[in-house]
Amino acid sequence: MANHTLIRGGTVVTAERSWRADVLVCDESIVAVGPSLEAPVGARTIDADGALVMPGGIDPHVHMELPFMGTVSVDDFLSGTACAAAGGTTMVIDFAIPAPQQSLLETYAIWRERAKKATADYSFHMAITWWSPEVAEQMAVLTREHGINSFKHFMAYKNAIMVDDATLISSFECARDLGAICMVHAENGDLVLRMQQEIFARGIHGPEGHPLSRPPMVEGEAANRACQIAGIIGVPLYVVHTSCRQAMEAIARAKLAGQRVYGESLVQHLVIDDSVYRNPDWRQSAHHVMSPPFRAPEHQAALWGGLQGGTIEVIGTDHCTFRTEQKAMGNGDFRKIPNGTGGLEERMSVLWHHGVRSGRLTPSAFVAATSTNAARIFNIYPKKGAIAVGSDADIVVWDPNATRTLSAKTHHSRNDFNIFEGMEVTGGAAVTMSRGTVLWQGGNLTPRQGHGRYINRPCFGDATRSQAIRNTFTAPTAVERQEFVP
Ligand SMILES: [Zn+2]
Repeated sequence: MANHTLIRGGTVVTAERSWRADVLVCDESIVAVGPSLEAPVGARTIDADGALVMPGGIDPHVHMELPFMGTVSVDDFLSGTACAAAGGTTMVIDFAIPAPQQSLLETYAIWRERAKKATADYSFHMAITWWSPEVAEQMAVLTREHGINSFKHFMAYKNAIMVDDATLISSFECARDLGAICMVHAENGDLVLRMQQEIFARGIHGPEGHPLSRPPMVEGEAANRACQIAGIIGVPLYVVHTSCRQAMEAIARAKLAGQRVYGESLVQHLVIDDSVYRNPDWRQSAHHVMSPPFRAPEHQAALWGGLQGGTIEVIGTDHCTFRTEQKAMGNGDFRKIPNGTGGLEERMSVLWHHGVRSGRLTPSAFVAATSTNAARIFNIYPKKGAIAVGSDADIVVWDPNATRTLSAKTHHSRNDFNIFEGMEVTGGAAVTMSRGTVLWQGGNLTPRQGHGRYINRPCFGDATRSQAIRNTFTAPTAVERQEFVP
């Protein structure tokens, strides 16, 4: 017996357009979109009068229960995806991160096991943290058999998970040949380490030392290097958490040169500036330690411009939450404060409030930045990121007039801190549906452990791949490429 839900009377908003239409869901999929649809016998109805009906959000940058800097982030796949649902997000992409020398396949299996409890859908990017012929073989297996089409590289965190250029280049070439996309955390890890040592030696030990050790040039340099290497090799590139003008300009240059390079920024970086590190309350300041750090207001203005102008396609969160007692591991040494902030539950409301209500973004541009672009870039569109017949019924009924004050007292994260504390926002999820199942309605969160499913993401087809290579300035010959191989 099929389960039907009719979402009636709303305005459907996709990345392309808005129009008055009902949406009929059967089991896990959307089966009809159109005006005045008939409710089948026994159908449940959701009244969307005055509301917008949008594809559920996709956050392609989260870390659940991540072992990092001597501790583990506190939101796990269940609490994390539940937070997501409360904020209108129905899918997350986490990062499976092997320790250097650890098998990628083993790491993938560990993440699959951890994620089984998720209440909303998920997928993984695989991090490349070391290099050998076996890594290349395992990348091929992951793309062929396990639905991974994206490989992440940390250019920072030296002596931990950072890769040098030789590894970056080997991995980029391998990913290109597989039809996968590469991703980078762009900060020059050698420079960061040097500057951390110098700043600490000068007697700056508090959280204010964190941004001083990672200035915008450090990010701009790495973003530019990654873009140029990707251009030479001919692989598409996605630059995560772009936080400053310098990095954004590197992405813009690559795009103008015809490369398939994508920019992501975090909603936190759009609305919070570096004054947080001057707060004399250690707890406040330490809770804002993440990398890249918060920036001077001029960079926020640049990021908004980049989002409006198309240099930045995706707004994510890098949701990676540590409680005060974990942040306290770095009391007396900013280098030991676990890096990370939350934002998954707040992402869409904050972007709606500051983006759409301010007039910077249209509702369709909002859908593109919170859902559809990520689905397209990571090759799961229109299964995800669309309100269309045949798409998964991942839907948010959005109340554009709902007002609330963001706070750790009311959020659903396990963190004891909310970096948007006290911010009043207008616009929020009235109903969030994950593959036809309502997880959030009328302020009630009803997570279902294990409801979330792993989403396979196929590699890009041959046509797309040859296009990516054609788009580079010069397609290097095999002989020329050997110069780049370690
Ligand atoms: Zn991250």
